[in-house]
Amino acid sequence: MTQSSELYAKDAQPKGNAPGTSPVKVVVPSRDAGQSEVLASRSGNAGFKREASPKQSREIIKLHKKLKREAGKAIADFNMIEEGDRVMVCVSGGKDSLTMLDILLGLKRHAPINFDLVAINLDQKQPGFPGGVLPAYFEDLEVDYTILEEDTYSLVTSMVPEGKTYCGWCSRFRRGILYKYAAANGFNKIALGHHRDDLLATLFLNLFHGGKLKSMPPKLLSDDGRNIVIRPLAYCREKDIERYAGLREMPIIPCNLCGSQNNLQRQVIEQMLKDWDRQHPGRVETMFRALNNVVPSHLADTKLHDFAGLRITPGLDVVNLD
Ligand code: SF4
Repeated sequence: MTQSSELYAKDAQPKGNAPGTSPVKVVVPSRDAGQSEVLASRSGNAGFKREASPKQSREIIKLHKKLKREAGKAIADFNMIEEGDRVMVCVSGGKDSLTMLDILLGLKRHAPINFDLVAINLDQKQPGFPGGVLPAYFEDLEVDYTILEEDTYSLVTSMVPEGKTYCGWCSRFRRGILYKYAAANGFNKIALGHHRDDLLATLFLNLFHGGKLKSMPPKLLSDDGRNIVIRPLAYCREKDIERYAGLREMPIIPCNLCGSQNNLQRQVIEQMLKDWDRQHPGRVETMFRALNNVVPSHLADTKLHDFAGLRITPGLDVVNLD
């Protein structure tokens, strides 16, 4: 596996505006004095904070192995990453995307195939967003990266009536910009940090409010066919990710700096899943297994199963039930 920075050299430099991405400013800020505190709390590529106790170090190793094993299995099960892929790793600065980057870098080190990983952050200009934190972190990890800048915050706040949540439009704009950038810059895979609990919460959100039996797939072809989205943490538990990111002292940037509240219905469902997990250990695992074990003939979707065409198989012995 080649880890040469030459592989990534062209992504590590400011690219200017590529065709189709003209409104987006692409920058790679340099470190400044304000970031020294963040850097001081990390120990770089090796992955352990300097002051970790032996017990914490053991826990970090254990969690790292577990997350890597689960991500590796998801990647293999869904054929998420193949030889020669250029993977755009979307890093918002939350615990999930930071952990995904860390785990993918770990997997790449020992993978039997070659693929490129480039971290991408979109600075949407929310008030208080600490623009220097992620570039410093990426440099510390020695991963190649690009920072995109687009003031979707002003756009969203001017569109959405006061008192309403911005998150729907904010995420829609973010997705559009990232997908367009990936297609214009030769990335054939887009990695997102959603985990198992996100997949389950989406399932219940659709079940309770959408009238659909659907979740968030580990691998997805975008509607326009130009991008393949992968979710390498699809088998990982949120509480493991949270604990790992905390122990590793990752520079987590909260999503709600803008003051908006995320989807209330999703919050209620996430809490419901947490309560079930506490009160009925094993239930969440069982529910997740169900996503991999669908039986269309025992549901009621005529598009998935030919109920109308069911016929008795001729020639079979009739069993007398009397
Ligand atoms: S909370 Fe996060 S997703 Fe919602 S509007 Fe703010 S930045 Fe966007």
